[in-house]
Amino acid sequence: MLASTGVPTKEDLEKVFPSHARLNQGAVAVIECFQNIPCNPCYTACPRKAIKEFEDINDLPSIDDDLCNGCGLCISKCPGLAIMVVDMTYSEHEALIKIPYEFIPLPVENDMVKGVDREGNYVCDVKVVKVLNTKALDKTPIISIAVPKEHVKTIRNIRMGD
Ligand code: SF4
Ligand code: SF4
Repeated sequence: MLASTGVPTKEDLEKVFPSHARLNQGAVAVIECFQNIPCNPCYTACPRKAIKEFEDINDLPSIDDDLCNGCGLCISKCPGLAIMVVDMTYSEHEALIKIPYEFIPLPVENDMVKGVDREGNYVCDVKVVKVLNTKALDKTPIISIAVPKEHVKTIRNIRMGD
């Protein structure tokens, strides 16, 4: 499915999601980069060296979840929009996820928007908690949304309106 549609399967996602134990410790990056392409800004963006140095520029990124503190600096540096940060400690029933968002208009804080999966299918309504608009710096804006914990591996984007 990944090769033909670009949409990762549940099995693909299991390979890149941190362990249940690590997720429950706090914010951590999830890197959905599945193609060997000549690219490494995620590595150079990470101040904690959590993303390991690439031996070959075509390598897939490899992350040490224990070194990652979920700062999110790598999110807007990834040209493939492949990185999000998940924080399962946000509240009792909700996780906070930070996603790159390139559509306009940008949502604003406290907006209720549609949470959608990796194929764009509606999952549930989610609340926009924060909008980091870095367009002036020529970087991808980052949207923080609160999602029900049971949907943390499903919701990957938002849709506004309709
Ligand atoms: S979220 Fe921060 S610490 Fe984690 S991999 Fe990205 S840049 Fe590094
Ligand atoms: S910057 Fe993004 S697309 Fe490039 S290697 Fe890192 S995760 Fe993959």
